[in-house]
Amino acid sequence: MYDLDSGAEARRISEAALQLLEAYEIPANPDYFRLMYDYVSGRDPVVTRQLGDAASESNVRFRRVATDLLLHHYGEGRTLNLLSETGGALGEIVNRSAGQLAEAGSEAKDFSSELGGFADGLGVTDTTVNIDNLVEQMVTSTRRMQAKCAKLETDLSQSSNEINNLRNKLDETRAEALTDKLTGISNRAGFDKALSTAIVEARDENDPMTLVMCDIDHFKSFNDNYGHQVGDQVLRLVGGILRSTLKGQDIPCRYGGEEFAMILPRTELQGASKVAEAIRTAIERKRIVRKSTGEAISRVTMSFGVAEYIPGEPGSDLIERADNALYLAKNAGRNRVCLEEPVTASPVAATRPAMAATG
Ligand code: GH3
Ligand code: MG
Ligand code: MG
Repeated sequence: MYDLDSGAEARRISEAALQLLEAYEIPANPDYFRLMYDYVSGRDPVVTRQLGDAASESNVRFRRVATDLLLHHYGEGRTLNLLSETGGALGEIVNRSAGQLAEAGSEAKDFSSELGGFADGLGVTDTTVNIDNLVEQMVTSTRRMQAKCAKLETDLSQSSNEINNLRNKLDETRAEALTDKLTGISNRAGFDKALSTAIVEARDENDPMTLVMCDIDHFKSFNDNYGHQVGDQVLRLVGGILRSTLKGQDIPCRYGGEEFAMILPRTELQGASKVAEAIRTAIERKRIVRKSTGEAISRVTMSFGVAEYIPGEPGSDLIERADNALYLAKNAGRNRVCLEEPVTASPVAATRPAMAATG
């Protein structure tokens, strides 16, 4: 709601935003300008906190966080545009319908006083000719009102269709903003949203919940050897295996690049490690053929890190622990599932590299 800032206030914020762009050597394009504007005005707590922390570290860090915020925090810019377009269209429909109803209201009032007039006339007239005339006029007025009502009905049903279409468009846009185009599973924004929901549910229901972070092994060499198109084919394959293996409540996501994640509600560490192991095996067994030439491509393998949610912890801590477990899996030779380092003395949380790992 930028229009809430008064002219002088908006100018002050804009100038400070431009100074920041210059100080941190960030291009003064509209996207970065908006980010700095939000930062200076303090209107967006996420931007304020993240850029504030980065500013106390270094210019490089500040620039990196700024770019990251643009990509992830404002990544839904297209959605926001569509949402505001939809909001505008809805406003028009509501105004139009309100106008039609007001008009119908005043016509109904006129009609009612016209009928009142006829009733009065019928009370005083004593000739059949006069009565015939009055009845004739009543029939004409009633037909006119009927036609008006029919038009109002058509107009209102058209408005209701338009509202339904807009609602569908809104749902599609929302889903599109949370989906990764290449693999068809949740993207990073979808992951963030799903993890927040899973955390709230786990806390409220006192249920376990587990996060698995996964990363394709030596993917860079895949791209180097076979090119990006084959790389993308591999990403689609992994996304497909995650989607077809996970069931019901479980949520597969493309976390970014060649990193994937799985959010497993109502699942403990051991159960999650079995799911990860099943996916690891399914990927390892898959034989990939280059579409264009039919040439067989070297095996794809993936490493997995599993961590169980500790009630009360922020999502970032859970991600970090799952990432650490993934790091263990990479260091232990890749193509394996590793559980998180024990956080407490709990026997469940023991580190177990290589669940039936094969190289
Ligand atoms: P490691 O086993 O340690 O994970 O090795 P790695 O090569 O998989 O990891 P690294 O982080 O060095 O490289 C990741 C590579 O993933 C870099 C880039 O070539 C590739 N990559 C990331 N995103 C995409 C994408 O969207 N499409 C394609 N084709 N490649 C991508
Ligand atoms: Mg990798
Ligand atoms: Mg990686």
